[in-house]
Amino acid sequence: MNAIELSNVTKRYGDVTALDDVTLSVAEGEIFGFLGPNGAGKSTTIDILLDFVRPTAGSASVLGRDVQADSLAVRQRVGVLPDGYHLYDRLTARQHLEFAADSKEADDDIGAVLERVGLADAADRTAGGFSKGMKQRLVLAMALVGEPDVLILDEPTTGLDPNGARRMREIIREERDRGATVFFSSHILEQVEAVCDRVGILRDGRIVAVDTIDALRGAL
Ligand code: ADP
Ligand code: ADP
Repeated sequence: MNAIELSNVTKRYGDVTALDDVTLSVAEGEIFGFLGPNGAGKSTTIDILLDFVRPTAGSASVLGRDVQADSLAVRQRVGVLPDGYHLYDRLTARQHLEFAADSKEADDDIGAVLERVGLADAADRTAGGFSKGMKQRLVLAMALVGEPDVLILDEPTTGLDPNGARRMREIIREERDRGATVFFSSHILEQVEAVCDRVGILRDGRIVAVDTIDALRGAL
């Protein structure tokens, strides 16, 4: 079974074709880099996988479940770090994670998750006072809660300092070692090449290449 499958997915917004006949599969346990410039259609693809956006044509499945027919089951098994997160300024880090755990029906050790992302000392502080980097780490922690089978990260290293980006890559590897599949979007090749098993390149809504980094390097 593939962790992620898109079959002939097209998405139009009026005259704009955001995705044009995209077919793609990501195997279970793989770290897959989804690379493309801004506007290529990466966020639209992710929104379709979570059934936040419905394709104009084609279909998508996650862990063998059709995302439209089974969206609740899919969302419970997927951890997402969205591009453009929103947090509640008056809630603490711990309260955000308790909320994430409830919505995934998970029973995680919240302290351990905060420790993993380097926010243990900030557990009881409200998110309104967090720096940008701390906010991003809190959103990552919310994605990690519940040991998701699939982790979808939309531009996860953008805006992090080099140490933060390195720690993000470590966490991605740890998640894969735990057995998760990781789908990692970026517009910067260097950010995906260090961790990804395979990379798909999206341009103007079309997949132009899918291969290992080594095989693609010559073509880029
Ligand atoms: P990326 O994530 O790769 O930057 P997006 O998926 O956000 O790309 O966008 C792909 C294309 O679809 C862009 O041309 C964008 O302007 C357009 N688009 C995305 N969402 C909408 C929307 N809700 N309405 C109209 N156009 C949209
Ligand atoms: P800023 O608050 O200035 O945006 P960050 O919060 O991103 O900076 O980073 C503050 C420190 O925490 C940095 O030294 C960085 O290396 C470290 N850091 C960043 N991300 C993580 C993470 N996911 N886990 C642990 N430490 C991190």
